[in-house]
Amino acid sequence: MEKSGLVQPLAPGIFRIEIPLQGPLQNLNYYLFAGENPLLLDVPPLFEPLVEVLERAVRMAGVEKLERIVLTHAHVDHSGSAAEVSRRLGGRICAHKEEVWRLERSSESAREEVLRLGIFAKRCGFPSDRLRETLEAWKGWRGMTERCSVAERLREGDVVQGGGKRLRVLHTPGHTFGHLCLFEEGEGLLFSGDHLIRSITPNPDLLVGEDGRWDSGLPSYVASLKKLEEFDIRLAFPGHGRPIGKVKRRIAFNLEHHRRRLADVWEGVSDKGTTPWELALRLFPQVCGDGLTMDSWLALREVVGHLKILEQEGRVKIEEDEERIIAVRLRRAVSDTEGCLG
Ligand SMILES: [Zn+2]
Ligand SMILES: [Zn+2]
Repeated sequence: MEKSGLVQPLAPGIFRIEIPLQGPLQNLNYYLFAGENPLLLDVPPLFEPLVEVLERAVRMAGVEKLERIVLTHAHVDHSGSAAEVSRRLGGRICAHKEEVWRLERSSESAREEVLRLGIFAKRCGFPSDRLRETLEAWKGWRGMTERCSVAERLREGDVVQGGGKRLRVLHTPGHTFGHLCLFEEGEGLLFSGDHLIRSITPNPDLLVGEDGRWDSGLPSYVASLKKLEEFDIRLAFPGHGRPIGKVKRRIAFNLEHHRRRLADVWEGVSDKGTTPWELALRLFPQVCGDGLTMDSWLALREVVGHLKILEQEGRVKIEEDEERIIAVRLRRAVSDTEGCLG
């Protein structure tokens, strides 16, 4: 086999297919379990040069036909070309059952979700010029994804065979509500998607229903991190960036990061009420102040995620109507370690 940077052997029969990327994500990683029951974990956005690179890499590793394509989650950089890759290389598309609606929905339904997110952002105080730019950026990404049919709906504890190895499905909601990781118990290898990345903490999911009710993935993200602490993970292979050797340390780092941020958000909430956007400006002046539109949207999602946790802990009340959403401080924390992050 040609040992180029594109296809890197990680362990017998397991390969990383790496596509370089500019920006903080560093690269896109796809994992191939070659041999018996060939399995590909995640696929690139639907963009011909990327799909071609992936197809070439899979063939370079000696696989002509896939049995399964497992998707960690429905974001474009992990799932956009699933239908196309399946047409070219075969493979039943598999995803966690809670992620199926996003993968199978029509582009009309995706457009409607974007509109609902826009209304939500306005209610949070997000400036309308940034909202227009954010909506434009979303439109661009939607062009790099195609709906696909999920042939196998996976759940927590399922075992799939890939490259002759037993891969256990771990449901790790948070970054999206249906995010999954695959765990190869024999060698202690975790394929962690966007749940655990070496250099950044992932942004939490945000769902806004037709009635305007919303939910953040951050509370379940924290719970999913704690769940991983129970497993004997020797190495984690993320969807972006380099492998993670000290997994327990990375989990502890992420938990500590959110504990601190929770304290910062709480400090910013007044007893008269503060909008999520005001909190985002206070917490992230570097991204919210200078017009980095997409980063300010991500900052807003971070803030509302932490507000959800503070609400669950009884430390703030989120008051909302059709026009606006504000957080009101209820009481002082008993101690710094109070609550679900403690
Ligand atoms: Zn993602
Ligand atoms: Zn990603």
